[in-house]
Amino acid sequence: MSYLGPEFDPPQPRRSRRGPLTVALAVLLPGALLGWLAYEAVGDGGSPDARRTVSPAPSARTSAASTSPSAPASPSASSGGDAKAPAGEPTPLGTGPLKGKVIVVDPGHNPGNFQHTTEINRQVDIGTNRKECDTTGTSTNAGYTEARFTLDVAHRLRTLLERQGATVRFTHDGDSPAWGPCVDERARIGNAAHADAAISIHADGSASGNRGFHVILPGSVHAGAADTRKIVGPSRDLGTRIAGTFLRETGEPPSNYVGDGTGLVTRTDLGGLNLSTVPKVFIECGNMRDSKDAALLTSGAWRQKAAQGISEGIVSFLRES
Ligand code: ZN
Repeated sequence: MSYLGPEFDPPQPRRSRRGPLTVALAVLLPGALLGWLAYEAVGDGGSPDARRTVSPAPSARTSAASTSPSAPASPSASSGGDAKAPAGEPTPLGTGPLKGKVIVVDPGHNPGNFQHTTEINRQVDIGTNRKECDTTGTSTNAGYTEARFTLDVAHRLRTLLERQGATVRFTHDGDSPAWGPCVDERARIGNAAHADAAISIHADGSASGNRGFHVILPGSVHAGAADTRKIVGPSRDLGTRIAGTFLRETGEPPSNYVGDGTGLVTRTDLGGLNLSTVPKVFIECGNMRDSKDAALLTSGAWRQKAAQGISEGIVSFLRES
């Protein structure tokens, strides 16, 4: 569809072959993912917490919450609205366990991309080939955009990481810049910051019935300006930890349409990964075009859990490295 650009054309859907893979995966997966597989195998045993956290009226509810005078000034687990950091608030000095660590958070797309189609359609060099600068991203059927989702999760994630003492840099913050940046620039921002970890936040636009999250890992590429050989290993470590903690915090299942039930997918066609020289992964938090996933993605309480899950994976990676 027109709103989906090549940077985020989903891989060809494949149905999960989870059953035969379960034993093989046991040696590969973190405990949390195994927990999910056990849950799936038993088919009962209690609904994951996230399934009880359904927000039925996304657009009206979030709009109302974000403009209400009683809306909380900072993200909270009970907030249904977007998390907004107070303008001009300085980054607190890092004093926690992540003091001295730099994390670059890349909110996928930009709400302004819809008004700047000429700019985002220009081609940029991603090493392996050329590709559109950026895309608009997808949305739920009710019109809640991926760009708005990614910014909100990014704000919540920043708050959590700064509480641990980390220095957090964004690739953009919605209206600054007004569109983009381009995918090559998104990678360069992480590189220039000498980030200890970088995360690009997305939600997918796949067919209804396809649901679940997946973490995208950089494959090994060495072409033009792209050389991921040194980051493939640490990025896999980062991504595997995030997949485990994201599952634990949200209860969202690993994707049933890519990744064979592991929640992990390796790709070599994304400029944001190909051009990174620092450990970096993407996360597709769910499928905006699936009604069950959309109900979660539009819930502020669920987005807080998503941010918590991503944060814990990053913290785990940085404390081990
Ligand atoms: Zn996206």
